[in-house]
Amino acid sequence: MEADYAIIYNPIAKKGKTQKDLDYAFKCLKDLNVSYKSIVTEYDGHAIELANQLAKDGYRVIAAGGDGTANQVLHGVITSNTGVLCGFIPMGSGNDIPAVVGIRPDIRRACEIIAEGHSSKTDVGIAKTDEGIERYFLGVGSQGFDAEVARRSNEKGGKNYNLIVFQALFSWKSKEIIVKMDNDTYEGLANLTAVGNGGAYGGGMYVCQKAKTDDGLFDISIVNIGKFKLLMQFKRMYSASLLPHPNVAEYSSKNVRIEMKNKEDDPYLCQVDGEILGPLPVTYNSIKEGYEFIRPRIDEVAEAFKEKYGHYFYECDHEL
Ligand SMILES: [Mg+2]
Repeated sequence: MEADYAIIYNPIAKKGKTQKDLDYAFKCLKDLNVSYKSIVTEYDGHAIELANQLAKDGYRVIAAGGDGTANQVLHGVITSNTGVLCGFIPMGSGNDIPAVVGIRPDIRRACEIIAEGHSSKTDVGIAKTDEGIERYFLGVGSQGFDAEVARRSNEKGGKNYNLIVFQALFSWKSKEIIVKMDNDTYEGLANLTAVGNGGAYGGGMYVCQKAKTDDGLFDISIVNIGKFKLLMQFKRMYSASLLPHPNVAEYSSKNVRIEMKNKEDDPYLCQVDGEILGPLPVTYNSIKEGYEFIRPRIDEVAEAFKEKYGHYFYECDHEL
């Protein structure tokens, strides 16, 4: 083997800027004497196959790109059953997946983290739809309004997120769901249900504000807010100040099963890490210390958040 690391990159993440970011990343890796080869993805889903094969070939596999590439690479590596290390160089518009393992969207720093060679285990989630689609994830799995936003966003290549949210809102109609958890059941209307291994999606929107990645449990937020009020609340998620909220039910559970209450309703879509899996029903399981990732020794995302807002994202008002 001529290299230690395989860098999988998507040439069309964040149009236009990607090539410049990639050139810079490759320069940084060379400066740091990291031995790597790079492989380009050619179609949606290709990163899963590439990551799976490269892991079997013995490479440590790095996703360079946005959250879609990050999720596909981690899924491909985990399902290879090789246990090889997986890492990230964030280059997307969201970068919520690298953030779960403490990597900030700073290309130079991400390359340094690879060169430093530290790694440790973190919890991962797995989602399975009744149609048989299965996917590992690090961030947030969600169904309802946010999955609809993710679907529209993927179709439009992630451009103009605010406009996409607004357009999705106009045609939105809230439906009744059933959420079965280890010790609780929720039955009723919900705009969205977020199942958090990590806390954030949409580029740092902390929807699962109490999520911790070492407790073997999902942090679950079931939101039932009038749709235009919901839009106003979206912004508060960036500073992790949405919760507590009278229209957001919060739970904690290792296993979660979500289905539509009325079988005649058109089912909500489910997404994990921004990747659309398909319609409900879906079953989630949290896997404690599920996989080992290349990461900094301290959570640099949590420290940056604290510096900006004065507290860690998981420190909610009602717990202080
Ligand atoms: Mg957890």
